[in-house]
Amino acid sequence: MPPAELARFAQIPLAWAAGEEVDLRIWAVVVGLGMALLAVELARLGLRARRASRDSANREVATGPIDNPALGVVDLDLAPKEGNPHDPRYSRYVGPFRDDQRTDERPAMPWRRVACPPLRGRVALVSLFVGADGVGWSEEEVARHLAALDRAARWMEQEAGRYGASLGVGTAEVYFQVDGETTPEVDMVVAQSGGEVGLFEADMTVRALTLMSRAAAELGFRDAVDFVQEVAARLPGSTAAWLLHLRLAGRSFAVPLDRTELDGVGLAFCHARQANFTEPLIRPPAPRAAVLAHEVLHLFGAQDKYGWPLSHFPPRTVTRRDVMRLDTERLSELRVDPLTAGELGWTP
Ligand SMILES: [Zn+2]
Repeated sequence: MPPAELARFAQIPLAWAAGEEVDLRIWAVVVGLGMALLAVELARLGLRARRASRDSANREVATGPIDNPALGVVDLDLAPKEGNPHDPRYSRYVGPFRDDQRTDERPAMPWRRVACPPLRGRVALVSLFVGADGVGWSEEEVARHLAALDRAARWMEQEAGRYGASLGVGTAEVYFQVDGETTPEVDMVVAQSGGEVGLFEADMTVRALTLMSRAAAELGFRDAVDFVQEVAARLPGSTAAWLLHLRLAGRSFAVPLDRTELDGVGLAFCHARQANFTEPLIRPPAPRAAVLAHEVLHLFGAQDKYGWPLSHFPPRTVTRRDVMRLDTERLSELRVDPLTAGELGWTP
C-alpha cells in the first residue's frame, strides 16, 4: 500500500471520531482486511496446536514403558538400633531419641491439608509396628511384614514403569516398634467407603494419629510432627511414606495429607489381619502385599474404586484387576489401570 493511502487509512478513525463523513467503501476494505488477517491467524494457531499435540503424543510413544531398577532397602541413619535376626537387612530403632540428635536442617512441614505428592522419584516406606493387648510384634512377624512390603514396593516400581514413570520405592532400613495399647471401644457410624455405604468405626483418622503421637512420645520424640520431621531429614532425596502396622484385626485405611488432622503427617493404617471391625488378633498376623500397596497408593492420591460397577468409570479406564478395587488380594494379578495411574501422576 503506498504511503499516501496508508496515511488516509490512519486518518479514518480520527475523521470518524470527529464526526466527519467517511467513505463506506474504505470501511468495507478495512473490515474485510481485518477478517482475512484474523482467519489466517486462527488457522496458524490451529496448526500449531495440532503440531504440539502430535509432538507430545510422539514423545509419549518415544518414552514408552521403562524398566525401573529395584531401589531395595533405603538407608536411614538413626541409632541406636538392633538388627532383626530374621532379616539382617533391617534394624529396630532402640532409642530413645535425644535432643542433641536433633537435626538443624529440618524439612519444612506443610501447614494444614495439602495435596498428595505424585508417586514419582524416590520413595522410602517407613514402618511403625504397634503392639496391642499386651502383645508386641515378634521379630519374625516384623520380618515377614517387611518382606511383604518389599514385594509391594517392587510391584509399584514395575507398574510405574509400564506408564514410563520413573519410580524407585524402597523399605527403610530402620523400623520403629512400640508396645501399644488395648483393643479400643469404638463408636459406629454409617459412612461411605469407595462405592459402598455401611457401618464403619468412627474417628479412624483420629485414632491412627493418636497412636502415631503416643509412639512418637514413647520413642523420645516431642510429638508425631517432630518424629516425622526427624525421619524425613535422614532420608535426603526421598519422600517418606509412613505405615502404621497395628497388631489387631481390622479394616486397613489411609490418612493422606489432604485429609489429615495433623499438619504434614500422613500414614497408611494397616491391621495385622483383615476384619470389618477392630478386634483382638486370634491367629498370627498375615501380611498382605496387595493391601499394603493399596494403602500406600492412597497416600499418593489414588482413590478407592471398589463397590461400583465398572460402568461407573469412563470407558477403558478401570478393569477388575485395578489395585484400588482389590477384587483379588493376589498382588501378581493386580495392576494400576489408567484412571488410577492418572491420580498417581503417571500420565499427562
Ligand atoms: Zn482404599
